[in-house]
Amino acid sequence: MFTGVFPAVELSVQVVHPTLGAHIILKRKKFEARILTHFAVNVNIASAIFSPVLRRLDNRGRSGGGIMRAMIEKVLLHSCCAPCSAAIIEWMRAHDIEPVVYFFNPNIAPQEEYDKRKAELVRYCRELGITVIDGDRDHEAWLAAVRGLENEPERGRRCQACFNLRLSAAAAKARELGIARFTTSLASSRWKSLEQVSRAGCLAQEAHPGVLFWDRNWRKEGLQDRRAELLKIHNFYNQLWCGCEFSQRAMLRRQWAREQAAETCAAAS
Ligand code: SF4
Repeated sequence: MFTGVFPAVELSVQVVHPTLGAHIILKRKKFEARILTHFAVNVNIASAIFSPVLRRLDNRGRSGGGIMRAMIEKVLLHSCCAPCSAAIIEWMRAHDIEPVVYFFNPNIAPQEEYDKRKAELVRYCRELGITVIDGDRDHEAWLAAVRGLENEPERGRRCQACFNLRLSAAAAKARELGIARFTTSLASSRWKSLEQVSRAGCLAQEAHPGVLFWDRNWRKEGLQDRRAELLKIHNFYNQLWCGCEFSQRAMLRRQWAREQAAETCAAAS
């Protein structure tokens, strides 16, 4: 497999060597080579070589738009919520990448909170005409995956298990849909450990041969600031805790401690 992602033009070419199964990633001048055990063939070309020509054809009312759409690479975007996804979606579309949004977050509790976050994301994607796939919320299965880790702090082992489960599902969905690359909005939040997200993505990629984890820091290149801007522009519902009941409890404890401290200060003055 040859994969090239050229930063200036976002050219992406993926070819699996039919006999050797050699898998080569060329990304931002960084060169990695790995040998995979599968022989899938996948060719994705979304290139600046072709896109200007096709756009010109499209502008003249000829058939370029159809060809262009056929050539634009689809990427499965595992999405945790609208605020974390909006800037990524915008960036992808500006770079001729069509995101297919996958909402798979069985960690979110309670159910009302889950419904609220999902509704916000679906509303936003519908406005943009983006496909959203609704993953199941099997919270019991998620609780089983993090059993024994309930008291871990955020960014601890519970979060790693949580990321592993969600990104494994994202890889499986990408493979099912024949989408070569997947990535996640989890890599856009400054509250999350990028190392943990990256580890989960790589594990998911290994467990699901034929798909690649696009290990990108979605905070860079101004996306952190753009996230905040889009949050205001679209008036997104912005959650106060990461997702699970354990993070909600930690948030309530912090809130209570702040209130206690404020009361103590008021009484002393
Ligand atoms: S704090 Fe967030 S990332 Fe960590 S386990 Fe809970 S929902 Fe998952």
